[in-house]
Amino acid sequence: MLKFLLLILAILAVWYGYRYVNRPKPPPPPVPPAGTKPGTPPEAAAAPRAEDMAACAVCGTYVAESTAKSCGRSDCPYPPA
Ligand SMILES: [Zn+2]
Repeated sequence: MLKFLLLILAILAVWYGYRYVNRPKPPPPPVPPAGTKPGTPPEAAAAPRAEDMAACAVCGTYVAESTAKSCGRSDCPYPPA
């Protein structure tokens, strides 16, 4: 009978250990990106900025205009990487 109780205890220990390891983590608090002015709402600060994509006239690759890098062709309008 003692063995049976120990088995139940072992099963419960494993079960609660499993529950503890797989417990849901609370979401981390939003951290405003560096450089944002204090006082700005965190929603506005955390909102990703959309950026226009532009197609390279030579190769047709769509690239973000601010970070556009050349595709390697000599007549590519973007600056070389
Ligand atoms: Zn190109």
